[in-house]
Amino acid sequence: MSHTTERCATCGQEAVAIAMHVDGTDLVMRSCDNCDTRTWALGGAPIELDTALDEVGLRAGRRR
Ligand SMILES: [Zn+2]
Repeated sequence: MSHTTERCATCGQEAVAIAMHVDGTDLVMRSCDNCDTRTWALGGAPIELDTALDEVGLRAGRRR
């Protein structure tokens, strides 16, 4: 897991991006303290929070 800072797409302030590797795929959460926006991306493509949780749950469940 690694942290970087990026510009928030919503308000333009600095936001934190947390990257996780899930089964060889990059899952990135961007969190903005300023406007309380959270966005997720899987393999560079934007996804919904529900999709992100499904990905983590499904892939983690396969790991023994
Ligand atoms: Zn923001």
